Amino acid sequence: MVRKVREHISQNEGLIFERSSAGKYAYQLPEAQVPEIDPAAALGADAVRPEIPDFPEVSEVEVVRHFTRLSTWNYGIDHGMYPLGSCTMKYNAKINEYVARLEGIAGEHPYQPEALAQGCLKIMKLLQDYLIEITGMDAITLQPAAGAHGELTGCLLIRAYLQSQGNPRTKILIPDSAHGTNPATAVIAGYEVEAIRSNSKGCLDLEALHNAVSEDVAALMVTNPNTLGIFEENIAKAAEILHAKGAQLYMDGANMNALVAMARPGDFGVDVMHLNLHKTFSTPHGGGGPGAGPVAVKKHLEPFLPVPVVEDDGKGGWKLNHKRKQSIGRVRAYVGNFGVLVRALAYTMANGRDGLRQTTLDAVLNSNYIRAKLADLYDLAYSGPTLHECVFNDKRQLTSGVRTGDIAKRLIDYGFHPYTVSFPLIAAGAMMIEPTETESKEELDLFIAAMRDIAGECATQPELVKNAPQSTRVTRMDEVAAARKPVLRWKSH
Ligand SMILES: *Cc1c(COP(=O)(O)O)cnc(C)c1O
Repeated sequence: MVRKVREHISQNEGLIFERSSAGKYAYQLPEAQVPEIDPAAALGADAVRPEIPDFPEVSEVEVVRHFTRLSTWNYGIDHGMYPLGSCTMKYNAKINEYVARLEGIAGEHPYQPEALAQGCLKIMKLLQDYLIEITGMDAITLQPAAGAHGELTGCLLIRAYLQSQGNPRTKILIPDSAHGTNPATAVIAGYEVEAIRSNSKGCLDLEALHNAVSEDVAALMVTNPNTLGIFEENIAKAAEILHAKGAQLYMDGANMNALVAMARPGDFGVDVMHLNLHKTFSTPHGGGGPGAGPVAVKKHLEPFLPVPVVEDDGKGGWKLNHKRKQSIGRVRAYVGNFGVLVRALAYTMANGRDGLRQTTLDAVLNSNYIRAKLADLYDLAYSGPTLHECVFNDKRQLTSGVRTGDIAKRLIDYGFHPYTVSFPLIAAGAMMIEPTETESKEELDLFIAAMRDIAGECATQPELVKNAPQSTRVTRMDEVAAARKPVLRWKSH
């Protein structure tokens, strides 16, 4: 039933330095046809090294094989399921990659004259129109390079808007279930952060919100569905409470995979929000990017959007408008991560409205399937209905000394990437799982079987789980020593 431990090709691949033998090389340059100069004379003696210590001397095929073997140790979405909650690690269809690599798209230069870049401008305008429709907002910028960057842009838009009303205010309210980027962003945008406690259902506490909103509050930043996967059912009332005091509602849209084509933030009172195209709109993510975090706003915030703004040129084409008096300015070079925008448009158009709706329904169904199949063995952090992700905790397994991090590492032995560990912080010992819509029932069943097996191991052989993973080249690491005494250089002696 359970998948066999994944086979790792050549797990005993050594360091490239160990392959070195003097005199080997990968490529030889032809004899120079210009006179040689003395580099020390040209650059100064202290800028020139007679040799690079321990520089590995290897042939081309040894270089290629070494790095190809190393690449097989990496786990990616093309290997198998990636149940990381809050990340929406869905499979990225190859058609998106194909489109982004087309010569006329990948080869464009951002300084190309507008007349010669009409196709690219049209791509951006189309994507903007679709995202405005999907979010129910009035205007959008595609410039920010990630979710957190979108948050910063959104907070600067709020600041500029409130400043134009005479007072930027001092505080941003953030629920205690929030992603860490939210408070960090608010502080970078020059605001103080005040935490709002969640109620017993894991949702925004309206009374706490009501008591906290004052003329000093610029905005509430809230993720919806929140980081427990729960839809904030009182979001429209929260918007009313904020608006009555002149404050704004910022929605962190990282969890839009649960809402696309089903519910629109613009319809439930949101003033400004970001999307993570690299999550919801199926562009590859991980390893630090690139990503895209478009920010959608209501009409009153539109004048402050970053420049340039893509607009109709009135002659059936498109242009970039750099002149907007109230703009907060640029937040990124050029127009944003264009390749990511292309992939998001390809994803949106390939699915169409019905496909996007089905995607949302499948994401919610898959998460609830896992939740139902594991709820007898793992405790749920909160018991209410959830959407695209579910959060268990390790309370039951702790009785045999096993923690969420141990179970996550044991999943590696079963051939799965771990789930999200210890987040959100309001759920002690959190095990946060988001399967996404792209996993088949067969893959979900394998994951469920692995989690069920591990629950059994926690009871009968807790040491096995606490020492996982065992099937990998590098087994359980001393994480404290790794952080405190990192070895950053290879030494031969
Ligand atoms: C991923 C995430 C972010 C940050 O997005 P990045 O693109 O990684 O900067 C913010 N909030 C939530 C809820 C997220 O899941």
